[in-house]
Amino acid sequence: MSSPPLSYDVLVVGGGPAGASCAAFCARAGLRVLVVERATFPRDKVCGDCLNPDAWPTLARLGVEEAVRRLPHVALRRVEFVGRIGQTVSLPLPGRARGEIAVRRRELDSLLLENAAQAGAEVWQGTAVSRVQWSEADGGGWIADLSTGIRARVRFLVAADGRNSVTARLAGLLGHRRAPDQAVARIGLQTHLPCPADFGPVVRMRWFARGYGGLAPVGNGALNVSLAGPPGTLDELKAWARGEFGLPADHPWRTIAPLDRAPAPLAASADGTAYLVGDSARVVEPFTGEGIYYALRSGELAAESLVAAARGKDAGAEAARYRREHRRMYHGRLWVNRLARFAGRNPRIAGLLLEVARWQPGLLRFLTAKVVS
Ligand SMILES: Cc1cc2nc3c(=O)[nH]c(=O)nc-3n(C[C@H](O)[C@H](O)[C@H](O)COP(=O)(O)OP(=O)(O)OC[C@H]3O[C@@H](n4cnc5c(N)ncnc54)[C@H](O)[C@@H]3O)c2cc1C
Repeated sequence: MSSPPLSYDVLVVGGGPAGASCAAFCARAGLRVLVVERATFPRDKVCGDCLNPDAWPTLARLGVEEAVRRLPHVALRRVEFVGRIGQTVSLPLPGRARGEIAVRRRELDSLLLENAAQAGAEVWQGTAVSRVQWSEADGGGWIADLSTGIRARVRFLVAADGRNSVTARLAGLLGHRRAPDQAVARIGLQTHLPCPADFGPVVRMRWFARGYGGLAPVGNGALNVSLAGPPGTLDELKAWARGEFGLPADHPWRTIAPLDRAPAPLAASADGTAYLVGDSARVVEPFTGEGIYYALRSGELAAESLVAAARGKDAGAEAARYRREHRRMYHGRLWVNRLARFAGRNPRIAGLLLEVARWQPGLLRFLTAKVVS
């Protein structure tokens, strides 16, 4: 006979920025929190490693602002846009204490997950969730099957397992999505390379005939190279990197697919027992460099509602509050995201925008300020 499931208030599936943020805030408020993370940290992740300045207030409330500053990082001073025929526009980034930095995800994510553990969350690394289902027994709760053979029973489930969230799908929160359109599907590639000595504190966005890339120095002499394009362009993108950086043909790349995904129709279930945070709820265009911010902030917003519901407030009303706050978080930013996605898919349009911006730099300055607000 299998042993009875272990009991917690909250199960957070995924220990990236969204899960670590939500778990830390919930545990600090006294909830019994279990975080299960498939990988064993430290681990790298396909990401441009750029931290949007809007992330600082949540990092401060998590109590890790100074610790993040002590990680190897580069304070970014400029953003450069390079079109596919080499036209270049370079703009200063706002220079201020809480500015944009580039920090390697293996360092940032380890720090955030350790912070959740210190706040009192139980963290099981190298453990994946393979199944979740609702059980009406004992007043109702989610039962999760873990890859270790252990089962957990919780009142609240948080899907923080990224863009390909299995948990969101199993909890029935992704709705009926259309099959991905192969014609527009894109893949992300990423690696870290030795940073050229003359690179400077710059994030460089570069378009190719089909696809685009981002380069950012992340400290400790490393350069993040991220590339995105349709599957048929990957050889072209890799060939560019080989030429630019003298890489061997078999240089290993981290990959992620698909790059695009429709947002979940609901960021929390109507009954208030299941929440989606970070990429599991909505994936933004990598080019905007905002995903980590949304992950941290949505984790915080979900925790506020979860804690209130655990303390006796109406769970459905708290879930509705989260859905509202979640929508508000993106308010006024999604059109820049759409424009970025359009430019990411259409290098010719990006080139035209750059031509205009060379004469009217205010246009790009405005768009950059909207992203790096
Ligand atoms: C090419 C590219 C470049 C990007 N550049 C930037 C950038 O410069 N700046 C920025 O802010 N954003 C960037 N992003 C977006 C950013 O990476 C994401 O938005 C961010 O990582 C989302 O955080 P998260 O915690 O929701 O998910 P993730 O960081 O994906 O974390 C999810 C975690 O869940 C774990 N997991 C998955 N499945 C399971 C399971 N079944 N059981 C247990 N654990 C599981 C995974 O191991 C992972 O650790 C980029 C994205 C891409 C693809």
